[in-house]
Amino acid sequence: VRGIDIMRDPILNKGMAFTLEERQLLGIHGLLPPALMDQDAEVFQVMQNFYRWNDDLDRFIFLMCLQDRSEKLFYRVVTENIEQMMPIIYTPTVGLACQKYGMVFRKPRGIYITIHDIGHVYDILCNWPIDDVKAIVVTDGERILGLGDLGAYGMGIPIGKLSLYTACAGVQPHHCLPIMIDVGTNSENIRNDPLYIGLRQPREAGENYNNLIDEFMCAVVRRFGKNCLIQFEDFGNQNAFRLLENYRDRYCTFNDDIQGTAAVAVAGILSSLLITKIPLEKNVFLFLGAGEASIGIARLLVQAITKTGQGLEQTLKQIWLIDSKGLLVKNRPSGGIEEEKLMFAKDHPPMENLEAIVESVKPTTIIGAAAVSGAFTERILAFLAKINKRPVVFALSNPTSKAECTAELAYTATEGRAVFASGSPFPAVTYKGQTLHPGQGNNAYIFPGMALAIIFADIRRVTENLFLAAAESLAKMVTNQHLSEGRLYPPLSTIRQVSLNLAEAVITFAYEHNLAFRYPRPSDIRSSLKEFIFSTDYDSYIPPVYDWPDYAHHHS
Ligand code: NAP
Ligand code: MN
Repeated sequence: VRGIDIMRDPILNKGMAFTLEERQLLGIHGLLPPALMDQDAEVFQVMQNFYRWNDDLDRFIFLMCLQDRSEKLFYRVVTENIEQMMPIIYTPTVGLACQKYGMVFRKPRGIYITIHDIGHVYDILCNWPIDDVKAIVVTDGERILGLGDLGAYGMGIPIGKLSLYTACAGVQPHHCLPIMIDVGTNSENIRNDPLYIGLRQPREAGENYNNLIDEFMCAVVRRFGKNCLIQFEDFGNQNAFRLLENYRDRYCTFNDDIQGTAAVAVAGILSSLLITKIPLEKNVFLFLGAGEASIGIARLLVQAITKTGQGLEQTLKQIWLIDSKGLLVKNRPSGGIEEEKLMFAKDHPPMENLEAIVESVKPTTIIGAAAVSGAFTERILAFLAKINKRPVVFALSNPTSKAECTAELAYTATEGRAVFASGSPFPAVTYKGQTLHPGQGNNAYIFPGMALAIIFADIRRVTENLFLAAAESLAKMVTNQHLSEGRLYPPLSTIRQVSLNLAEAVITFAYEHNLAFRYPRPSDIRSSLKEFIFSTDYDSYIPPVYDWPDYAHHHS
């Protein structure tokens, strides 16, 4: 590429940082203001703009436009200011952006496949200009964060998740492809939104839906190869479990809401033991919610606990779940229990009231993932503090508006003794002179590093063991210093390091268990990883120029 097109391509564009030599050689001299800047100066300029906005949605739009203008600059800014940028390009602001996606929409990114494209999915994938796609994040928009069915407006999530692949773990952006599978939406207000970007029809389910997803999976393999990772994201509950069971052993795939969440929560639980000093297998866990997040966590927890040597039967006695019909027990008047919940259903009289359940189950750890905001009331938290020296409270629901309780309430209602983490970020809380940093129990600690590991090491089947390895590796990164500040996770500002460590641990585990197929096996995984990841430094467009010896210029 030469000439003005190079300035218009976000992958190649260097903004004001084209050197004088490049401007002349590329035929763009005079098309830029004369000042010669470097990337540092551009970062400064971007941040000045970022601070000017008073509104997070404006900041979101500003950053998306930057991503469309200059990819390297975008990732440099996001990586360098990750704690400030994550709440904008990810939860909670991305949730708001999805709800208003028709208005936010500037420029398409990724691929849209609809229910009317059955039979043509491969052709659509062929329209993508890049061949070596190695990771896809796909959604059908049915359960976007805790916000429900947003249809094609849900595309903000795969885009945001893949931005974090790069920002948090350094996955090459050109390896990533966000995909929206539009089968309609059951949200009438979205179908009637004049700005809506998707199909204005109710969700198609049943055979057509299954055929489309099946065709999609095959088409991905045909277009991008059998190693291409397919991450399922924010699918509705029933499809999520079903599709995971269907595909997990046949494709390179995982469901982040079930498995990624599980790993981050189990890591938080492992860290919490260092504070509560209660051995893992002696804890009692109560989940509000029995959906993708809760079941995923509960399943991985079973693996972690049985690894200590405690039997399955006893372990299951210590894990309680609540769904929309109340405590998960075998003989409920409401009838049948979904397959994935069965193993956790108890022989116990039915109960519905959360406060009463908490008093009866007496959990050491309570985990909220039901998107019921404010469910953990002051009374419930105070009761937990009465029966536990250090009650563990996870309010995992996203976005912030759906959190089961705020960090502030968790600390004040428990005399500052709560060991707290939340799905969306909360600011630090000062309680009786002590500053407490609530942990962000978000799968962003897991999926970027996990994806990096899968892509790098040619992992073709993403087993539960890999997620347990990821959880254990994350928990190991928590220091005493972190714990004393109230943190259950390393600070988000160190996420690049965290993801790299995590990827290294997962890759090592994968080779040991014959799950990694990259050969030759790198002798130094860490340094190979560092070479593999994306650099936000601009490339030089001046090719290396060299001369031949004098005599080579003369004839005879
Ligand atoms: P899901 O599969 O739809 O599950 C929601 C669960 O909540 C279901 O079991 C549902 O019951 C239950 N529920 C609904 N209303 C309830 C009520 N009033 N009382 C008790 N239980 C109730 O959704 P999910 O994927 O698990 O996600 C749930 C929340 O977790 C969302 O807000 C999501 O953003 C958040 N999440 C956070 C992370 C993170 O990294 N922090 C990751 C994934 C998800 P039924 O089964 O009876 O319908
Ligand atoms: Mn999700």
